[in-house]
Amino acid sequence: MSEKEKIQIEVEVPVKKLHVEHAFCPNGHQLVDDSVKIHGKSAIKVKVKYQGQEGFFYIDPTYGSYDNIEEGISLPKGAVLEFFCPECGVSLTDKDETCQICSAPLFVLELPKNGIVEGCLRKGCVFHKMKLVDAEQQIARLFENDTMESYL
Ligand SMILES: [Zn+2]
Ligand SMILES: [Zn+2]
Repeated sequence: MSEKEKIQIEVEVPVKKLHVEHAFCPNGHQLVDDSVKIHGKSAIKVKVKYQGQEGFFYIDPTYGSYDNIEEGISLPKGAVLEFFCPECGVSLTDKDETCQICSAPLFVLELPKNGIVEGCLRKGCVFHKMKLVDAEQQIARLFENDTMESYL
């Protein structure tokens, strides 16, 4: 069953109040890299391709913060990028949705417990959102714990 067939809700998360600690490619590889920190948090590492060039891209794991790092590649503002898993090379582009602001493709990262984070692949565009699946249970936990840190 595809994730899209399940009930999803979108969560309004206050910016910079939480960060992603676990993010996975569709094949289950952990993308969070402890060796690179952004604002003291382990960054999300992906392979990036743009106009035939390849490098690595470290995504700021703090939700609502965009201090991403480029490695081995220089990307102009406004460039539409492609992200891949550094481990298995699978594409991280969302096949179903595009950016609501600039209509570029989105990347999608899987979170524990069937949640996802989506973001715009255009450099400089700040569109992103988080979706949680099986929401009822998770929202219940949210209010219990008053924090989302415990399951991201
Ligand atoms: Zn992978
Ligand atoms: Zn966009």
